[in-house]
Amino acid sequence: MNEYRYLELKAELLAEGIQASEEALSGVGNEYKEQNHGLFGWDFEDHVGTSLPDDFMLPDGTIVQFRKNSRSPYKVSGKGNNLTLSKGEEEICRAEWLPRPAYYNKETANNNKMVKIGQVGGGDCLFFCYQNYCSHFAGNEECLFCNLVSTLKTYDSVLKKKDTEDIGEVAGEAFSEGKVKHVLLTGGCFNHQKEIELVADIMKSIRKKTGFSRVPGTILPSPAKGEDEIKKYYDTGIQAIGFSMEIWDEKLYQAICPGKSKNTSRGTFVNSIETAVKIFGAGNVYGVFVMGLEPKRTFLEGVREITNMGANVVPFVWSPNPGSKLEGHRAPAGGWFVETTLEASEIVCNAGVPSGIENHCYKCDGNSLLHDALRLKGIE
Ligand code: SF4
Repeated sequence: MNEYRYLELKAELLAEGIQASEEALSGVGNEYKEQNHGLFGWDFEDHVGTSLPDDFMLPDGTIVQFRKNSRSPYKVSGKGNNLTLSKGEEEICRAEWLPRPAYYNKETANNNKMVKIGQVGGGDCLFFCYQNYCSHFAGNEECLFCNLVSTLKTYDSVLKKKDTEDIGEVAGEAFSEGKVKHVLLTGGCFNHQKEIELVADIMKSIRKKTGFSRVPGTILPSPAKGEDEIKKYYDTGIQAIGFSMEIWDEKLYQAICPGKSKNTSRGTFVNSIETAVKIFGAGNVYGVFVMGLEPKRTFLEGVREITNMGANVVPFVWSPNPGSKLEGHRAPAGGWFVETTLEASEIVCNAGVPSGIENHCYKCDGNSLLHDALRLKGIE
């Protein structure tokens, strides 16, 4: 069998989207984990009033984000956990929805629904967006691929601002169920000092409820700059930090992320990553990219430079999100994503960066291919 079979399939499914029959969707939102739009909407089209799965699993354990596209040739049919993935008339393989966490039905002591506070991404990543806010929308300078505001307005499914105690409580429940292995925290762009204080309070609450002295997982704050800020994030007790650089090519970065690039240049990001590696340790820092909006060459240059500094890379596979400025555009073909990811995985391996899988692993990554490619090289 072609060892890249499921990597290729996942790339196609992310770039082309997918459909599911009504029967296949029948347990989603009860037995199986549904989308809750914690931050962005990743489907090709909105689906208010219909519960769709957040993600699903291929036979080798690969996790794939579900991106609804009524025009996709890929479709899941069947019932319960007897599901089949087909392309047109051709049956490809079995697929499995992921189980719905029990805490999704619970409430916090403040009477807030836990699912509106934190959601599980993939198989084992507990996601909190502590504030669904970004200052770049007000000036019409949001990143061209981003649909944060539109997602919030369309679904209104999560609490925009989460209470610190509530976050800790949800983390306690989620970890006690045994499936969650790491957290991923992010928030919008607002006053940096306030954000650091908020994250410190949240981490204190998570540590208290989970018993961790340092919490496995990653914080993706508004661009943390300088040794002082980065050290403060380290002192909150999170194990890893990420920097959402989005695009490596500097001119494309300025064009695609007009607001963000005004506040944080590529050079500032690079310096921050270098500093963060000294503070958090090699492998515990991430450069986060959106893959598919810049040439392969410049993307791989970025991967090379970041990994040479001892940091890891998470590249999300771009597809056009509804409500973003790039809605209706097309992503590169699945083959482009596979080829580029395989080259990136070579670069990562050659750089010898520690894998950091205790903070972020292939099971977290329904929307990226790099961890799957690294897994094929024995890094899980
Ligand atoms: S910085 Fe860009 S990607 Fe992040 S929330 Fe703002 S507009 Fe969206």
